[in-house]
Amino acid sequence: MFHISDVKKYMRCRRLYCLDQFAERKPFHPFVRLDEQVSDLVAKKLGVTDPFIGSIGDDAGKAMAAMEDHDWLIKARFEYDRLRVKVPFLHRNEDGWDLYFMFIGLFPHHNDMLFYCSMVWVLDHLDIKLKNMYVVHLNSEYVRQDELDVDQLFIVSDCFYNGKNNPTMPVVKAVRSKMQNIQPLLAEMEAGFDEIPAPVRTQHCTGRQKCSYYEECFPQEIAQDDNSILTLIGAQHRYEMQNDGINYLKDADEKRIEGSRQQYAQIMADRQGGLYCDKLALQSWLKRLKYPITCIDFEWERYAIPPYPGMHPYDVLLFEYSIHIIHEDHSVDQKVYLSIHDQREDFARSLLNDIPKEGTVLAYNAEGAEKIRISELAETFPQYRDGLLAINERMEDLQLPFESGMVYDVRMRGQWSLKKIMAMMDDPGYQDLDIQQGMDAVFEWRRLDEAGELDDSDPRVQELKDYCGMDSYAMTVVLEWLYEISR
Ligand code: SF4
Repeated sequence: MFHISDVKKYMRCRRLYCLDQFAERKPFHPFVRLDEQVSDLVAKKLGVTDPFIGSIGDDAGKAMAAMEDHDWLIKARFEYDRLRVKVPFLHRNEDGWDLYFMFIGLFPHHNDMLFYCSMVWVLDHLDIKLKNMYVVHLNSEYVRQDELDVDQLFIVSDCFYNGKNNPTMPVVKAVRSKMQNIQPLLAEMEAGFDEIPAPVRTQHCTGRQKCSYYEECFPQEIAQDDNSILTLIGAQHRYEMQNDGINYLKDADEKRIEGSRQQYAQIMADRQGGLYCDKLALQSWLKRLKYPITCIDFEWERYAIPPYPGMHPYDVLLFEYSIHIIHEDHSVDQKVYLSIHDQREDFARSLLNDIPKEGTVLAYNAEGAEKIRISELAETFPQYRDGLLAINERMEDLQLPFESGMVYDVRMRGQWSLKKIMAMMDDPGYQDLDIQQGMDAVFEWRRLDEAGELDDSDPRVQELKDYCGMDSYAMTVVLEWLYEISR
């Protein structure tokens, strides 16, 4: 028996599907926090009464039998030809049934049609007459008050949305136009494999999310030199060039590169012995920084369903910051703030208090993170708006010299994350920390938050402070290095 997730995996990559059969199941930590039983909330929204509620392991005939004497079915399990599906909501509509898909996001686009079509394919083959189809999704404009209002929280849409998030094709039409017979595919999956298929590089290997087997599939890539042509950022023809014997950045074929500033910096770095620095541009950028320079880093949790007043679906809750203040005499002060539950107002007040009233505020990826978070705080707490927005006006992005191609060191291997750059420095940096990644910090905080009290003797408190503190400390080290190479 297969589930839709198996079919999707199989379609993505046969090898991935096989490897996953033998892989040890790891605990699943969602990137977005979802504490509520969404189907219970949607049931309220839809006004469901006296439903049949399916469970894991239900016999395939149980839901079919329940259709005789229930008008609503929730999470009912149906099976046809080895494919088992969990149908979110079915509602009797005269001589047929209305199907409600659930999308725990803001705008369902018609880009996951295998999921929708597989479910309908099973129901069609069981002779269940489907009439209307809807997608229940979260309302991006909903702002939570003291209580959660499920009527406002969800939208029941009979259309998918386009790239600009406007309603477009009706769900029924989109699904019906993409229906295909998946029987041959299921038969192929059932037949299995004599051996694990060899890796074949496709867009699925590094697409939206890098495949977890990438290193296993392409170990030769990990072993590449720092100045390998494969590190050329955004180069569509890098594998082609390598196959033609062009192994290093310095030898890149000018006719087969896109010619971005980053690529220029990479090629020049290799030609100049490993480091490229556009000194004039870097000096000009560094001149904009004024002491005291405050390096800041935030940590936050993202919630699908807003848990606190004033929050929209998928809003974030700031819970930690670390700042390193570099004074003109090069002395450095550090401050860390950590809270659990909803302390946004205290966070805003404390931030205003801790950041000096003058000088530059520096963040890594400021435009994509800290500036946005500060603007959100300013909107939520208008009483602190002016002070918070003044911080944004003084903010510079430490990522800029790297992402704009002012600076490149081949040891960056085509990446410019703070950790990657820090790894080049003569500093133990992140190596000794218990928490190594931003999402690990969030998972640790989730446990603290659920425990209900912020106990300083809990080792997780210090681990979280160390991790966030390392980000703002790393910025001071990287900044110092930029000053050095600009001279
Ligand atoms: S890295 Fe590519 S080839 Fe390897 S399992 Fe993943 S998707 Fe398949």
